[in-house]
Amino acid sequence: MVLEHFISSAEAIALEDQYGAHNYHPIPVVLAKGEGVFLYSPEGVKYYDFLSAYSAVNQGHCHPKIIQALIDQAQTLTLTSRAFYNNRLGETEKFIAEFFGYDKVLMMNSGAEANESALKLARKWGYEKKKIPANQAVILAVGGNFHGRTLGIISASTDPSSTTNFGPFLPGFEILEYGNLEAMEKAIQNPNVCSVWIEPIQGEAGVMIPPAGYLKAVELLCKKYNVLFMIDEVQTGIARTGKLLASDHEGVRPDVLILGKALSGGVLPVSAVLADDEVMLVIKPGQHGSTYGGNPLACAVAVAALTVIKDENLAENAARLGEIFRARMTSLQEKRPDLITHVRGKGLLNAVVLNDSEEGSMGWDLCMLLAENGLLAKPTHGNIIRFAPPLVMTEAQMNDCCEIIEKVFVNFQI
Ligand code: PLP
Repeated sequence: MVLEHFISSAEAIALEDQYGAHNYHPIPVVLAKGEGVFLYSPEGVKYYDFLSAYSAVNQGHCHPKIIQALIDQAQTLTLTSRAFYNNRLGETEKFIAEFFGYDKVLMMNSGAEANESALKLARKWGYEKKKIPANQAVILAVGGNFHGRTLGIISASTDPSSTTNFGPFLPGFEILEYGNLEAMEKAIQNPNVCSVWIEPIQGEAGVMIPPAGYLKAVELLCKKYNVLFMIDEVQTGIARTGKLLASDHEGVRPDVLILGKALSGGVLPVSAVLADDEVMLVIKPGQHGSTYGGNPLACAVAVAALTVIKDENLAENAARLGEIFRARMTSLQEKRPDLITHVRGKGLLNAVVLNDSEEGSMGWDLCMLLAENGLLAKPTHGNIIRFAPPLVMTEAQMNDCCEIIEKVFVNFQI
């Protein structure tokens, strides 16, 4: 397959390098076409995608039903702004609200924007409902978090690459150890705490899973101390971990649910904050918004993307293939204990932890070899490789992929 608009991989890399900001360090592979679980270079080299655009492409690349919804809507109406009503927004809000079981939806665009919106919602609720004194609201976040790149969000980050030379930061955060309930119970008693804000599994930190029962216990603490529980499911949500939401593994229902990425199946940026009336309605007309938030194109795509998740049983598929993947990676670890120290994950959000330092190059070197063998993954930190393919993968494809990974790891020289 050679595309009509042909630009070689070497040319594409050189152009990005010369004209683009250097804010990413990609694996040197250029992608020109995607279909299901596969990606293709301009020269026609075929790869299995094991990153899924950081879990945005859960439904597989260019899913025909999502693309059809995009095309139909793109030919009809794309954007009106929220100065007027549009004929897609209300029905989409109803669809999303019922899909996840909340009263109301606030549609935004990126995952970072949805998180920023949630932070604003939490503060406003804190002042107007919990009666926290003006400008005293505190949000409890946890170490290792990743919620995006805006200034508000990085003010709660513990990752120096997110924060160095970007100060001064937003006050009003207290950072606790992820998974530490004792610390949570102590901090949450401060009457100025308006919310707890966490990921149910920390994807960017390296697929860090908190101790069993942690989320449920935090939910109970939030109820006890009248604090909003805000869960960022931008990466873990929408079937990725083998359930619709990662929170579902512990039967937790956050007061504020934050979604993004796969809400559009990787087609365009669509994110959302969900909450019940008593929380969402603290925001009044003119107090928050976005020109593109809730645009008709995003609405059509989001409904199609969620419909695919349900119709194709993608949560169940993720759970089943995840078991296969972890079983095979655990056997691989037994063969190469010198190379692999941990295998962990839920559904199809998995990590293989390498016997190297965070600054080491083993993750990068292995991902380069995986790419040469037709499988694309990227290290998150030098010593952790995240494996997160589209959820439309078949069992035969998964076995094929495990063979590629096994071959590369078994032959890898430390
Ligand atoms: N929240 C989580 C948990 C994420 O993993 C990410 C992105 O990786 C974001 C928020 C930010 O999303 P976006 O890149 O769309 O702003």
